[in-house]
Amino acid sequence: MRPRWHDVLKQSLRTQKQLEEFFQTSFPALDYPVLVPLALAKKIREQGLDSPLAKQFLPHADETLKGGLRDPIGDTAHSPAPQVVHRYHSRALLLPTTVCPVICRYCFRKNELYGGEELFIPRLSESLQYFRDHPEIEEVILSGGDPLMLSDAKLAELIRALSEIKSIKYLRFHSRFLPILPERFNHRLKRTLKSSLKYFSRVTFVIHSNLAEEWGPSALKKLAQLRSLGIDLRLQSVLLRGVNDCPTRLLELIKLMIEHGVTPYYLHHPDQAQGTQHFQLELEAGRRLYAQLRDCLPGWAIPRYTLDIPGGEGKVEAFNPESYKFSGKLINRLGNEVGIKGSQI
Ligand SMILES: *Cc1c(COP(=O)(O)O)cnc(C)c1O
Ligand code: SF4
Repeated sequence: MRPRWHDVLKQSLRTQKQLEEFFQTSFPALDYPVLVPLALAKKIREQGLDSPLAKQFLPHADETLKGGLRDPIGDTAHSPAPQVVHRYHSRALLLPTTVCPVICRYCFRKNELYGGEELFIPRLSESLQYFRDHPEIEEVILSGGDPLMLSDAKLAELIRALSEIKSIKYLRFHSRFLPILPERFNHRLKRTLKSSLKYFSRVTFVIHSNLAEEWGPSALKKLAQLRSLGIDLRLQSVLLRGVNDCPTRLLELIKLMIEHGVTPYYLHHPDQAQGTQHFQLELEAGRRLYAQLRDCLPGWAIPRYTLDIPGGEGKVEAFNPESYKFSGKLINRLGNEVGIKGSQI
């Protein structure tokens, strides 16, 4: 029998025509695929088609704007083995699938990912061999796509295979599922996650969420269950123009998360991906916003505001005025400019 989350996912809106029928309005025909789970579509309808929630997931004509990069963070240049991205000495990404439970219009991988059926690493043994040959990799980060698109059996098999490589001490998940399709957190998955704690000295689950409106009662219930397993829960958000580039919205999300045991980890400045120009905002605007967060939250609840330097150079602190290729404007804690230094990013 197919698990229930598969059935829920199957009911998603996947075409322009389905979107138009559901929302009773027209949408631009784009080359980028569409995927909106039904429960999310209903929430978007309640919030309105111009709402911040809608902007994240409904296609927009601005996606055809020119500019931006196809591989904005240079993943392809750092892939030494199938579906492995090794950019930092001690940790590497493993991308077991290119599919997600939803397609975000702002996705930095939108020119590389595609919708479709679940994939599993066709050459997993080569990826595993790379980890064996590189014992400096102490953490494997399962990302994608969304790693929870794998079936329970395949995910358990993958985790078991990783647990046999003794140099891998920490395991991390980066996933968008929890707010979007909480049904994914079935009994079997919770059991797999719980047992992974036996093999790794730390298991971190990084939840990708950008707005408090994404969270409904069933997602919060699953969050509480995950918390009780003893997994380190973290939040990563992308700062997006017209979605959450406002201190009130970000604070609402962060406060909701910390109340539920999730510690903020990253606030990403948007990557320069082609087709996402309309979500871009100035670094200075982001810094001003971040300065307000720093004033309104305890230190442990403040995410790291980071920027991925185009071309694969990796993440830098976006707030730290001393960052590499600093844009030139120092912002003090009140959000005022206090100096001019350095060159343009
Ligand atoms: C962001 C990222 C990581 C994780 O970095 P942390 O600082 O440990 O969160 C690892 N590998 C790649 C390629 C990344 O982009
Ligand atoms: S969940 Fe992440 S990888 Fe998937 S479409 Fe959204 S931003 Fe892209």
